[in-house]
Amino acid sequence: MSQFWSETVRALQPYVPGEQPQLPNLVKLNTNENPYGPGPRVLEALRGAIGDTLRLYPDPDSTRLREAIAAHCAGGAITPDQVFVGNGSDEVLAHVFPALLRHERPILFPDITYSFYPVYCRLYGVAHRTVPLDASFVLRVADYAQPNGGIVLANPNAPTGRVLPLSAIEALLRASPDSVVVVDEAYIDFGGESAVALVPRHPNLLVVQTLSKSRSLAGLRVGFAVGQAALIDALNRVKNSFNSYPLDRLAQTGAVAAIEDRHWFDHTRQAVIRTRAALTRELTALGFEVLPSAANFVFARHPRHDAEKSALALRQRGILVRHFRQPRIEQFLRISVGTDEQCAALVAALKETVSP
Ligand SMILES: *Cc1c(COP(=O)(O)O)cnc(C)c1O
Repeated sequence: MSQFWSETVRALQPYVPGEQPQLPNLVKLNTNENPYGPGPRVLEALRGAIGDTLRLYPDPDSTRLREAIAAHCAGGAITPDQVFVGNGSDEVLAHVFPALLRHERPILFPDITYSFYPVYCRLYGVAHRTVPLDASFVLRVADYAQPNGGIVLANPNAPTGRVLPLSAIEALLRASPDSVVVVDEAYIDFGGESAVALVPRHPNLLVVQTLSKSRSLAGLRVGFAVGQAALIDALNRVKNSFNSYPLDRLAQTGAVAAIEDRHWFDHTRQAVIRTRAALTRELTALGFEVLPSAANFVFARHPRHDAEKSALALRQRGILVRHFRQPRIEQFLRISVGTDEQCAALVAALKETVSP
């Protein structure tokens, strides 16, 4: 701690992302990146964007990108003024907290979910209450029928991978018509139905998505929110009080190409979904209990092997997975779905470490 720190900084508890070690030959299954790179159309578009125009500021409104997202989301039911884009969905979420969730009443989110939400609460002074998931880590909609200043949930949830049907999202929206319900759909393209289709009917719904997972662009930092124009206006007011140009020229160009390349998107996510099924079978055969996953990771525990020790043993074999030292889930490993080869390496290493 330094004498120069403000009170605000002293009180922060920053999010700790999964490690990104700069070591060669690591099997990196710890941060849910896509094992397949961006498609050739994206790479070509990015190369085309490198040139003299980089001396100019980018479009502050990311107009082409918002148009592309509107055209490719929800079968044309969305207009560009219902789309907000940011430097990764983490930045979009960061703007959501002061823009739409800081009210008198505390906001609600599950006890087991993306651990960035409480971090934003502290940064922006948003009171929150956590609502326990049930014993199988399923969200009980009825538990949210209580006065609140907003609701945030990840669907599919992180780090469990469990998904809620749209009927449950609609029930949440109807039970809290005066609060914004934020649905973080970072993993929706790997399973489940997007709530974007509900936006035209629900003024209190904000859906957040990212190009980091299903579009293989974690390195480009692009995320977006879809909601009715009043909610999007609120986000623009915060954004334009913070950074007018959050998406640079390369990010806007690459993101447009990625959104338009339906073929690459479908091809790679189907591959991830297939590998997830195979990985689930193999982990189950090794004695793991694997939660049903609609995401590009699985969440698994072994009845006889300590999760933290297993994560360390895997690390010594050059394989990274994520372990959370957190009540209720400290015996779980979160394993990103890699290529078939990466998952085979993981299973081979686990056979050595968890065999009786
Ligand atoms: C990965 C992830 C994000 C952040 O994605 P970025 O767009 O890379 O910032 C947001 N929410 C959840 C639940 C995630 O897992």
